[in-house]
Amino acid sequence: MPWSRLYTIVRILYLEPMRNASLIQRDLAVLWHPCTQMKDHEEMPPIPIRAGQGIWLEDFDGRRYMDAISSWWVNLFGHANPRINTAITSQLASLEHVILAGFTHQPVVELSERLMAIAPAGLGHCFYADSGSAAVEIALKMSFHYWRNCGHEQRTRFISLSNSYHGETLGALSVGDVALYRETYEPLLLRNITVPSPDCYLRDAGESCADYSRRMFEPMRQALEQHANQVCAVIVEPLVQCAGGMRMYNPVYLELLRQACNEHKVHLIADEIAVGFGRTGTMFACDQAGIRPDILCLGKGLTGGYLPLSVCLTTDEIYAAFYGDYTAQRAFLHSHSYTGNALACAAALATLDIFRDDDVLNYNQTLAEHMAHAAAPFAGHPHVGEVRQTGMIVAIEMAKNGKTKEPYPWQQRRGRLVYRHALERGVILRPLGNVIYFMPPYVISPEEIEHLASIALESITLATER
Ligand code: PMP
Repeated sequence: MPWSRLYTIVRILYLEPMRNASLIQRDLAVLWHPCTQMKDHEEMPPIPIRAGQGIWLEDFDGRRYMDAISSWWVNLFGHANPRINTAITSQLASLEHVILAGFTHQPVVELSERLMAIAPAGLGHCFYADSGSAAVEIALKMSFHYWRNCGHEQRTRFISLSNSYHGETLGALSVGDVALYRETYEPLLLRNITVPSPDCYLRDAGESCADYSRRMFEPMRQALEQHANQVCAVIVEPLVQCAGGMRMYNPVYLELLRQACNEHKVHLIADEIAVGFGRTGTMFACDQAGIRPDILCLGKGLTGGYLPLSVCLTTDEIYAAFYGDYTAQRAFLHSHSYTGNALACAAALATLDIFRDDDVLNYNQTLAEHMAHAAAPFAGHPHVGEVRQTGMIVAIEMAKNGKTKEPYPWQQRRGRLVYRHALERGVILRPLGNVIYFMPPYVISPEEIEHLASIALESITLATER
């Protein structure tokens, strides 16, 4: 046997698995992973990823995994996308980063102009940060500070929806309502007003999602009537409560909310960190209701999933309330070191180019139809309570009894069984409790959608048969 062949065999059988294993060992010695009970890694170690290409990730053993969740909903056009790679490397040749206080640069100016051109009309200024949670903190502080600058110091509260998620920092957690993340920190949080979500999973049998969303606006109307003069803003995730289990509602709710916020002179903050950039079928979810929020928070897909960047777009009216002589002490003095990072802005510009040049929103309609078709067989499964879809998000709600929607007790960790089985079959699903979802990069092919659905169906069947 030639040496090269022998070496290849030795490499595949011994060396690369050892690299995989040794990286895991080194990882567990020094890392503390996000959103993870680290003890779980005793039975399921983290997977060391060597490289990514398109919707596929590869470990050191050469095993491939389909990234069906877009690496926590950030990746839009695949890993190692040549156009985004080129944009970052060419930006790297001139400027990687500069302080954005007192300085500016070409990519951040152009990005702001282009975001404004595609966002709902009337959002005239961009304030940047480096994560979704930081954008939410900014939106909350900005709204509160606006009212203070306008002489309404009694406005100190926010209204948000049950089952909402806006991030993990303390302000963002205060307007969130997913018990798993919030409960422990309750004593540290702001006094928020939570109103029941229009989540259509909870509608009556035979009731349409639109009717339910309209009906569920009543508690919001009452909360605004009762508390408006103490409230700075209402914050919502438009159309899909993602971390809350991909629960969906009808655009009519957003229309009613916009009207009521106008009537009561309360800001509307749209947190489109997860749903922005085409995820719900339109560029922004607010577009489906034809509304303009007072503050629009964007993150995640903004850079195509490459670099941490987030932004709050605000109305000129909000911007103007902070404008004045320094000594008037009206300025918004919030800052993050990496605000408006030039490399991240270059990635974001390349991402917007792809949307424009490839007619992505139109093509996604076809992809969304493929997803609907692939998800159809789940509806008849005895342990599926609902299959729902908004644009490029499909969610399958596992239930102990699919007909009555009686849930599985969380302690049984059925979602984890799905996760485990799908991983063994080379697909990354990361269920939210009992909810399995597909949120793939937009470069997935129809055949890959079929493959994803068949592995998910097999995994759900396995996870629910005992
Ligand atoms: N808002 C929403 C709607 C989100 O889904 C997330 C993240 N899942 C955040 C805010 C927080 O973003 P980040 O993780 O970048 O802080």
